[in-house]
Amino acid sequence: MTGRRRTAEPYRIKMVEPLRVTTPEQRATAMAEAGWNTFLLRSDDVYIDLLTDSGTSAMSDRQWSALMMGDEAYAGSRSFFALERAVQEVYGFPYVVPTHQGRGAEHLISQILIKDGQYTPGNMYFTTTRLHQELAGAQFVDIIVDEAHDTTDRSPFKGNVDLLKLEHLIDEVGPAQIAYVSLAVTVNMAGGQPVSLANLRAVQDLCRLHGILVWGDATRCAENAYFIQQREPGYADHSVADILRQTMDCFDGITMSSKKDNLVNIGGFLAMRDEAILQRARELVVVYEGMPTYGGLAGRDMEAIAVGIHEMVDDAYIADRVRQVDYLGQQLLDAGVPIMEPVGGHAVFLDARRFLSHLDQEQFPAQTLAGHLYVDSGVRSMERGIVSAGRDPKTGANRTPKLELVRLTIPRRVYTDRHMDVVADSVIDLYERRESISGLEMLYEPPSLRFFTARFATL
Ligand SMILES: *Cc1c(COP(=O)(O)O)cnc(C)c1O
Repeated sequence: MTGRRRTAEPYRIKMVEPLRVTTPEQRATAMAEAGWNTFLLRSDDVYIDLLTDSGTSAMSDRQWSALMMGDEAYAGSRSFFALERAVQEVYGFPYVVPTHQGRGAEHLISQILIKDGQYTPGNMYFTTTRLHQELAGAQFVDIIVDEAHDTTDRSPFKGNVDLLKLEHLIDEVGPAQIAYVSLAVTVNMAGGQPVSLANLRAVQDLCRLHGILVWGDATRCAENAYFIQQREPGYADHSVADILRQTMDCFDGITMSSKKDNLVNIGGFLAMRDEAILQRARELVVVYEGMPTYGGLAGRDMEAIAVGIHEMVDDAYIADRVRQVDYLGQQLLDAGVPIMEPVGGHAVFLDARRFLSHLDQEQFPAQTLAGHLYVDSGVRSMERGIVSAGRDPKTGANRTPKLELVRLTIPRRVYTDRHMDVVADSVIDLYERRESISGLEMLYEPPSLRFFTARFATL
């Protein structure tokens, strides 16, 4: 990525958080007590926490200073206007409704735009997005390109929409039965894979033709913009800020989880161009989140988001962020470990299907691998496979996704490359003794979003 000359982080460390180092025996006990679910571990028992990049970013000194400027007025907070200005300047949407996090915005937009029995096509599902769509009465339809389901396909934009799939759905059910097209940039569940601007524009054109709205999930839009700069012909000389803006121009509105690219620990928002949708969102936000000028956030949270929105489009920052993810991925590839390729923007995904090829999907290979990685080195990861996919709401049967992955998610500005080396060593050791690893059975299954709280035992 950088040739012979190496680059380093465009920041220095001002404060440190000591980590507890545990023994293999302590970790084996902790894993058993957590029912082999890494979500149920205590963070004190974790050495390197790659569970998620959500809300785990290190804030900058400017963001910490901004916290002190928070205006905690119940209504009309100055901090809301700081957030609104940042959204207008960087994303280009005139209207914003803050929410406590991304799913709060997903709830609002699903309730506003979906009529019972409609469809919400999307470029691979995301757990909370799809659930809110289903709760509002919609049926999700996957319209991502086939390559996204193949961990060995090295296409540069594996998050793209397959336009034929979208056209086919429009022909089949009619445009009036499509609530909106729901597009994530990047696609978390496909491994943090980006969507090209050419593809977004083609989707936008097709949808305009049929009067269908295109709603973006902009959670990792800065990472997506960086990939466009690096990979899409014609954008190498554009800044990430400019590309991000062009990306947003393809959407009628977005949901945003600020816990990801906005570099804060909590928050999110819904942004849009249409005043009628804004009106409905303001009506609903007071019921579910809070006043339209705080939406479940403190004034200080909105200040920190406003600063983070500008920091996420700093070219040096975003280049280093994606570089570090790639640095971990390349070490694993060099050792022959099966991972999803190309490496995505926020995480390295181990391909548990190929890693533990002796296990059936019903023995939860990704859940198993995540558990063993923790016991081996105190590195916490998460399952993205059959457990996360849940059950079909109609038939009640397990969904059996093609992708059976373990996600090693890299928090932003938190760990050094040396931490990445420790992770790589542990994964490589496990790969070398993979045949000694046996699967799991599920002992407790909650009714929805089961991956968060399900419990397992070794077979
Ligand atoms: C995290 C995430 C969400 C939901 O956001 P929360 O802030 O966790 O509620 C939605 N979409 C994608 C792609 C995400 O990664």
